[in-house]
Amino acid sequence: CGIVGYIGDKQATDILIEGLEKLEYRGYDSAGVAVLNNSRMHLRKYKGRLNILKEKIEENPIEGVVGIGHTRWATHGEPSDVNSHPHKSSDNKIAVVHNGIIENYAEIKEGLQEKGYSFVSQTDTEVITHLLDYNYKDDILEAVKKTIPMLEGAYALGIIHSDYPNMMIAVRKDSPLIVGIGEDENFIASDIPAILKHTRNIYILEEGEMAVIKKDSIKLMTIDGAPVEKQVYRVTWDV
Ligand code: GLU
Repeated sequence: CGIVGYIGDKQATDILIEGLEKLEYRGYDSAGVAVLNNSRMHLRKYKGRLNILKEKIEENPIEGVVGIGHTRWATHGEPSDVNSHPHKSSDNKIAVVHNGIIENYAEIKEGLQEKGYSFVSQTDTEVITHLLDYNYKDDILEAVKKTIPMLEGAYALGIIHSDYPNMMIAVRKDSPLIVGIGEDENFIASDIPAILKHTRNIYILEEGEMAVIKKDSIKLMTIDGAPVEKQVYRVTWDV
């Protein structure tokens, strides 16, 4: 339902949670974040209000300057801690947040289970993490390019990999996603209010586009990897 991502020099967790709070009006049943600290993935996700996530993180803080966050509106699998996003690969390296629905998830799940992958959630989203893992050889961007054409349905994705602590990947297919342009920091979000406190300069991803985002660069491309040029959209309104 709601996506926020951050990469920069600041602590990601606070920015992610604050951003998700700005998207609360959309409704949600659970919330979570995945944050990279050097090459370690820290994942926290809970059924219920953002306050629950906030309290758990206060009790047991997580540090890191890159991360993705999500508020979920369940479509596949009941609201629960395990079904909440982000979802991760079994080796803890890949984390994914997803808005929308993967229509052919059952088929993909079956194929991956035959290959020995085990699933911990009932979501459609979890197939993306294992499929990325399956398609990953030595380049996360290549794995994403290989995975996207296998997914049918509507989705906006935020993806991080613990071997790439300086990178975040955003993909848009039939579900809105924007990139917020900062100074030595960049953002992704499913809607502008989530990041308006930090920047008014954004790229609006169009259908079938993706972005490779580092703290000091944003590469826009189609999901086949062809470079895309885009005007910066300047937000002039306030929330
Ligand atoms: N289909 C996914 C799920 O049920 C994502 C739902 C959403 O957009 O929040 O977990």
